[in-house]
Amino acid sequence: MEHERALSSGPRVTLLGKQGAGKGTQAGRVAAHYGVPHISTGDMLRAAAAAGTSFGRRAAEYMDAGDLVPDNVVIGVVAERLAEDDACGGFVLDGFPRTRSQAEELQLLLAPNDLEAAIDIDVPIPVVMRRLSGRRVCGVCGAIYHVDHPPKHKWTCDADGGEIIQRQDDHESAILRRLNLYEQEIGPLIGHYAGLGILRIVSGTGTVEEVLSRIIECIDDARRLPAR
Ligand code: AMP
Repeated sequence: MEHERALSSGPRVTLLGKQGAGKGTQAGRVAAHYGVPHISTGDMLRAAAAAGTSFGRRAAEYMDAGDLVPDNVVIGVVAERLAEDDACGGFVLDGFPRTRSQAEELQLLLAPNDLEAAIDIDVPIPVVMRRLSGRRVCGVCGAIYHVDHPPKHKWTCDADGGEIIQRQDDHESAILRRLNLYEQEIGPLIGHYAGLGILRIVSGTGTVEEVLSRIIECIDDARRLPAR
């Protein structure tokens, strides 16, 4: 019974993985599957940058250089978002936490609950380089395309006609910088979630649907386990 009650609300999970591992795509689909919000710190920071607020402009300086935005800034943004009503019944975090200290802050924010699973989507580096350097996005709604799968009209978004652009941080030098940063940051974070017993590793190669069903299986499985 305990277990059925737990399953009646949505999952509280985070997706980890290198840039280009498919986190954003999968997080949106996983969130839709469970009917919970998809909370992407990258999207929230880019929206602030596009709005041109002084906060957004400062965040953009870090993002354009491929650096992490300082913890206190990101944690504030996430705390506000998690306090909104729709996040009470579960959520899928995408791009947060990125550091061990963000993970510890998240635990404090969620207490007395906790994350049910931290899912690491594992993809080899040559595959992510190809995915990222070819990635193009709609400058208006953020829809993701690839040079191998462009929109119907090459330079405009299928959804809203917005201009198709390459993100500053998808240029090769920024990609390499982000991948190096990721390697440095991820070790302690993975260790943290492994220590809590909630780390799950899923192969991110194959079709979007194949990876999605692996992730869903993993989340359902994690939620069937008795609460720690
Ligand atoms: P993403 O779309 O997740 O690749 O994030 C794009 C950029 O936003 C990153 O390269 C960072 O500059 C910034 N960012 C996103 N999430 C975080 C986070 N949790 N901590 C620090 N910076 C972040």
